[in-house]
Amino acid sequence: DTVGSLLDRIAAAHPERPALVVRSQGVRLSYSEFHAQVEQVAAGLLALGLQRGDRVGIWSPNRAEWVVLQFAAPKAGLILVNINPAYRLHELEYALNKVSCRALVLPRRFKASHYLDLLMELAPELNVCAPGALASSRLPALREVILLDEDAAPGTRAWRELAECGNAEAVARLHALEQALGFDDPVNIQFTSGTTGSPKGATLTHHNIVNNGYFIGEAMRLTEQDRLCIPVPFYHCFGMVLGNLACVTHGACMVIPGEGFDAVSTLEAVQEERCTGLHGVPTMFIAELEHPRFKEFDLSSLRTGIMAGSPCPIEVMRRVVGEMHMSEVTIAYGMTETSPVSFQTTLDDPLERRVDSVGRIHPHLEVKLVDEGGRLIPRGTPGELCTRGYSVMLGYWEDEARTREAVDEAGWMHTGDLAVIDDDGYCTIVGRLKDMIIRGGENVYPREIEEFLYTHPKVQDVQVFGVPDARFGEQVCAWVRLREGCQATEAEIQDYCRHHLAYFKVPHYVRFVDSFPMTITGKVQKYLMRDAMAESLA
Ligand code: ATP
Ligand code: MG
Repeated sequence: DTVGSLLDRIAAAHPERPALVVRSQGVRLSYSEFHAQVEQVAAGLLALGLQRGDRVGIWSPNRAEWVVLQFAAPKAGLILVNINPAYRLHELEYALNKVSCRALVLPRRFKASHYLDLLMELAPELNVCAPGALASSRLPALREVILLDEDAAPGTRAWRELAECGNAEAVARLHALEQALGFDDPVNIQFTSGTTGSPKGATLTHHNIVNNGYFIGEAMRLTEQDRLCIPVPFYHCFGMVLGNLACVTHGACMVIPGEGFDAVSTLEAVQEERCTGLHGVPTMFIAELEHPRFKEFDLSSLRTGIMAGSPCPIEVMRRVVGEMHMSEVTIAYGMTETSPVSFQTTLDDPLERRVDSVGRIHPHLEVKLVDEGGRLIPRGTPGELCTRGYSVMLGYWEDEARTREAVDEAGWMHTGDLAVIDDDGYCTIVGRLKDMIIRGGENVYPREIEEFLYTHPKVQDVQVFGVPDARFGEQVCAWVRLREGCQATEAEIQDYCRHHLAYFKVPHYVRFVDSFPMTITGKVQKYLMRDAMAESLA
């Protein structure tokens, strides 16, 4: 299937089943209604003169139109470009120009951010141009600006017009075009989270993401009876593939609580829509579990869901299974460059393997572990995880050099993650190569210390990383968020570690903080914490 033919097939098989619920917008669509909207918008995109292979950016938090465009752009042979809603001028300009977006879809505003005003700062020409005829010096490729709002602004079109302008001729063209599309055509450019530095634009094909969505849905045992709550951002592969696409491959319903993540609206959505699944990164599950109103919600409809994106502490997994009723919750491991999932736990795995590993390799993928020299590593020792198969991206958009660093000539994706694989094929992520601390010659894996500190009764959340040290090369540092109302001292945390961990793992520095620097996908940016510590110690 292409993304478009997938939706055609599923909508024909389950026309009356619910497809999409967006609570913040009051949207409720069945598969046949959703399919009809997708077709109208796809025809509209063609009617505007967009050509096969053109890039269409979407710079928006989670909304119904996002999901419609996710399927409409591929149908029209266009490449959807996911743009982080947290991007501001500089990053937006970079992303739009990096991939030469011809069209951009955006809401007028989201909470305090006035997206249209920001765009106008980059492209003041919008004020004087006709819709579709933008010629901006700073955004040279951009022609069309489509506004997610009732009314258009100068130089833009309203989303509604897009759905209306797909005339019969455009629909005919659409259907002819769909026949010509190839599975290996690029369909999507997704930027990585930017956890370790500046985001990279991974180019993915129909084949990449449709298959990955399908196997994710299989691992979750999704059916058309399921309703999956998706509070993770769409601009990231977690929302777009593990959420939306996995649902559509199995005819399940996508339930979107709102534009940005919020623990209460997520819990409300699960309760009121009787959701059977819930996705999240660990920090989201922690926020839900720790919310003072958590106990008020009836979550008994939950069965499954995915926790992924960063290390999933065993303590948190236990509470998700016990207190959120998600007995079938799965852990997935993946990265944007591999569409994204390559490892996932399934119900066939023994219970302890479902909490302490990221499971086994997905069907039709290969895996190996290598050392710094690229040599194979014996089972049971940590090495860099490499994967190969249908899910590996085409490359970073127009960035040969970085593509070659990531994907070698034999097609192996070098993930930059350290992992151990046991005799039965279960994989445990030990950490990121970049995050490994080397203290006086000893390799220290932050993950191990974090897992241990979670067992401290006063600790709610903790991040461990290395800071430069003249004597040892690096020293271990822990940033700790305490539970509400708790107080602790640096010495107390260090003493607790000292009894249980080797001396070189005991955090030399402990800092108490209210929050961690995070990407909008909810991942902690250790490199920023490292910079902040280095500065405060200098
Ligand atoms: P960037 O590449 O821009 O620094 P990023 O690697 O965080 O950012 P993503 O592609 O969103 O960008 O995330 C993939 C990474 O997330 C993986 O390489 C891995 O480090 C981490 N990750 C994903 N799932 C898990 C998991 N279940 N357990 C541990 N780590 C995970
Ligand atoms: Mg990465």
